[in-house]
Amino acid sequence: MKRAVLSSQVELVQGDITRQDTDAIVNAANSSLLGGGGVDGAIHRAGGPAILEECRRLGGCAAGDAKITTGGNLKARYVIHAVGPVYRGGSSGEADLLARCYRRSLEIAVEHGLRTIAFPSISTGAYRYPVREAARVALRTVKEFLETQPAIQLVRFVLFDETAFHAYAEAMEEIWP
Ligand code: ADP
Repeated sequence: MKRAVLSSQVELVQGDITRQDTDAIVNAANSSLLGGGGVDGAIHRAGGPAILEECRRLGGCAAGDAKITTGGNLKARYVIHAVGPVYRGGSSGEADLLARCYRRSLEIAVEHGLRTIAFPSISTGAYRYPVREAARVALRTVKEFLETQPAIQLVRFVLFDETAFHAYAEAMEEIWP
């Protein structure tokens, strides 16, 4: 498995988010929170029906926001369901919404006393956000957050395929030179 350490608090791995043993994993959810394909489908399959049961009671989630449930059968104790923007060319506030859902996820983690968190590449699958741009937004937002919030010990980006891994590794060189 590929792994790259960005700083003492941030790392990139190529792999499957459902297998992570961080306190929380983040789901790239849709606004219904009632399940979908991609990461969402994988998390509900691996975590079992308890997660969807909890999601049903949350009443959905707007793009740019996030909500938390327990982790069901996953190793992670919690799942933070973050809703990224659908990419519509880049001038519809997508970067801001994407940054907000990373920030909200981290805030929720801190509110719950969590120290380690794993993110997928939100919005770059079905929501078609170009992965190189998304990687820059994701890493910049996490870096800014960690500068003011020392409670989070580890942020791990779990990239499913080689293309995403390389996009994040390149963005990393820009942001953590
Ligand atoms: P979105 O709807 O936010 O675009 P997707 O789940 O369609 O979310 O895709 C987001 C990213 O997650 C894509 O890069 C996809 O390749 C990746 N992905 C899919 N399954 C997994 C998994 N099990 N672990 C980590 N990343 C995954």
